Amino acid sequence: MLPILGGVFLFLLLPLLIVIAMMAGSLAALGGDGQCVPIAGGEVGKPFGYPTKEHGIEQGWDNGNPKHTGLDYKVAAGTAVLAAADGRVVSVDGDWVKIQHDEGVQTWYEFLQSKKVHVGDKVKRGDEIGKSGSGDEGKPGISGDHLHFELRALMNGGNQFDPIDPTDQVGDAAPDPNSGGCGCGNGSGGPLIGTNNQQKAFNFFASNGYSKEQAAGIVGNMIHESGVEPARKQGSPPGSVTHPSDVVGYSGGWGIVQWTPAGKMITPSMEQGADDNKIESLEFQLSFLKQQLDGEGPVPEGDAGQQVKKAKTVEDAAVAFGRYFERFLGSDNLSNARYSQRKTAAKEVLQTFGGGAGGSTGGAGGCAGAGNGDIVATARSLAWDTLGQHPGVAKGDAKPEYQNAMPKYNGATTYTPYTDCGVFVATVMVMSGVDKEYFRRGTPSQRDYVRGSPKYQVFDNLNSVSELQPGDIFVNNSHTFIYTGNYKGGDGRTYNSVSASLGSRVPQASNAYFVLNGDHFSVARIKK
Ligand SMILES: [Zn+2]
Repeated sequence: MLPILGGVFLFLLLPLLIVIAMMAGSLAALGGDGQCVPIAGGEVGKPFGYPTKEHGIEQGWDNGNPKHTGLDYKVAAGTAVLAAADGRVVSVDGDWVKIQHDEGVQTWYEFLQSKKVHVGDKVKRGDEIGKSGSGDEGKPGISGDHLHFELRALMNGGNQFDPIDPTDQVGDAAPDPNSGGCGCGNGSGGPLIGTNNQQKAFNFFASNGYSKEQAAGIVGNMIHESGVEPARKQGSPPGSVTHPSDVVGYSGGWGIVQWTPAGKMITPSMEQGADDNKIESLEFQLSFLKQQLDGEGPVPEGDAGQQVKKAKTVEDAAVAFGRYFERFLGSDNLSNARYSQRKTAAKEVLQTFGGGAGGSTGGAGGCAGAGNGDIVATARSLAWDTLGQHPGVAKGDAKPEYQNAMPKYNGATTYTPYTDCGVFVATVMVMSGVDKEYFRRGTPSQRDYVRGSPKYQVFDNLNSVSELQPGDIFVNNSHTFIYTGNYKGGDGRTYNSVSASLGSRVPQASNAYFVLNGDHFSVARIKK
């Protein structure tokens, strides 16, 4: 029943997989080195789920002679059999069901006594596809009631799916990064999202338990305190940098909220082992402030946090933060002009980043950062803003924000996943919250996906940039990228897109074009 493979062939499996993945312009959801997918917070996810609720394996993969080319789960006949990953049913034959997950990957399930699916059905990870039954494999496989499960990959010129050891590929999924609201996860180590510090700070608070109005109220104050410049010393001009160790004894203010005296924030941070670089980073200061507002840490300001959280409007939030946290000179007087300045700034922040005018695409922007509904802002936050200056293909070559986001929102692990164009586009779509269902990898499948999804309007014959809208997704069978509208890159050149390219560049600035390899791009646009 199971093909006998030569030992040498097995050694070739993974390199071949890589080659196939490159040829297909897509990547399988396999950890090529058998590693799981790390996600923020230290939790891990496996690319394939358990095929039954019982997780104990009676007989594992065996490379001996004879072989056992899958995993045997000893479950009573009639136990639900579950799809190991999202995909499409490609074969229901005898007691087998086979599901296609990507260009080159299938899972096979054997000894089903009944089937719930038909060829062509789309399934989700964990969906029941039928009931297990009974069978005799001969050793080393087992006999009697059980489920035989295989993971297979397309080999040898694309004609044959051969078995791969699934042992390290099966397990619990990574938690849904979008569950429970916005889930930007900055509090648990995710990237700050935004094209400037104002937006990053806004998204940080809007993703950490504050309403958009409250987040904007906080940032409106920061704008007047420091311009949201974390290394700014009181009285110094915009853009100036004063390092923590140079200002720790200063009696005036320093940092995004102008902690006063400067040592109020710097000293306890140094005592906890943070160095200058860390203390003057936006990430660190936002986390420090959040901790204060939570009423925790070395300098708690829990009352200020409570007052801000009571605010229903952006104006009230701006006043609450100024009055109870900043406590600037004259803050007792609520008609102090400084309040109206802060309210104005806060309203602008809300309007710009709160899903109103700032949202280029889709969604009401009910949530910021991850889930901000903004394809362009999310894409640009994950991509270098120049073309050609970051030619590497390793994780470390990608922008730090993308190094964090890709595993969390996509989970691709095989050959140079940080340069895979489809993985990049899918990461943006999932992370922005615009389309959490977006097909995770493989440009042909992604093209099929947008064409088949009611969420998208798809144009197959656009030829002019003037017909495009920011947030449009270009996809053909070998490449995909996101059109952003014009922006000035870090090198002063004008770009209008962001893209990655498998095996050659991590996400970065680029420009749109309409045909590649004789294949005209489809342009997918989220329907309003
Ligand atoms: Zn078996």
